[in-house]
Amino acid sequence: FRGQITLDGPSGTGKSSVARGVAARLGAAYLDTGAMYRAATVAVLDAAVDPEDADAVARTVAAARIEVGTEAGTELVLVDGVDVAARIRGAEVTRNVSAVSAVPAVRRQLVEQQRALVAATEAVVVEGRDIGTVVLPDATLKVYLTAAPEVRAERRAGQLGITDPAEVAALAEDLRRRDEYDSSRADSPLRPAEDAVVVDSTDLDQQGVVDRIVELAAS
Ligand code: C5P
Repeated sequence: FRGQITLDGPSGTGKSSVARGVAARLGAAYLDTGAMYRAATVAVLDAAVDPEDADAVARTVAAARIEVGTEAGTELVLVDGVDVAARIRGAEVTRNVSAVSAVPAVRRQLVEQQRALVAATEAVVVEGRDIGTVVLPDATLKVYLTAAPEVRAERRAGQLGITDPAEVAALAEDLRRRDEYDSSRADSPLRPAEDAVVVDSTDLDQQGVVDRIVELAAS
């Protein structure tokens, strides 16, 4: 395979595992754009900037050096040379990432960086929200991954090893809140590109979704 595969959709659809799986199967590079917005959020939190203060957020992120790896097998995320790969998955970052990623200047900066990273590859799977619609409108194959909200909350809980029903409910609430926030913006990235193939993973396991996308990439 040569070209770009975009994989968009809301959180909890198994997008990351699927994107890594597809990249590994095709011997392609992998770019997790959510990790870039999360890294930008680390920079904002470390600067003690209010995530709702758009101007201060834009200035802080512009001054930060955000680096992400493009190999499916490893997770490399650096902010100003410091490894933040573990921190970006933490609750504080997850709580604040929507506000940071809603700042237009932050999006412009990261989209430009994403396009440059993609341009350096021959084959790549790019995962995010707005990849097929905004970042790579001419991608070779666009996939939009969906799943029923309950299934998404359960999967997230499973990944985090959470079994307490109250915590699972809190997780579902956080998913809903982030979806709402992400889709309430005028330039909402939470919709499939017109030429995207919508894949519903509610009744498919991860391998089934990977197989389906590899099949689409071959056709
Ligand atoms: O995919 P992940 O859950 O890591 O993304 C974290 C957050 O980053 C999303 O909730 C969304 O606010 C933002 N994001 C975005 N555009 C992307 C990828 C992620 O706005 N392309």
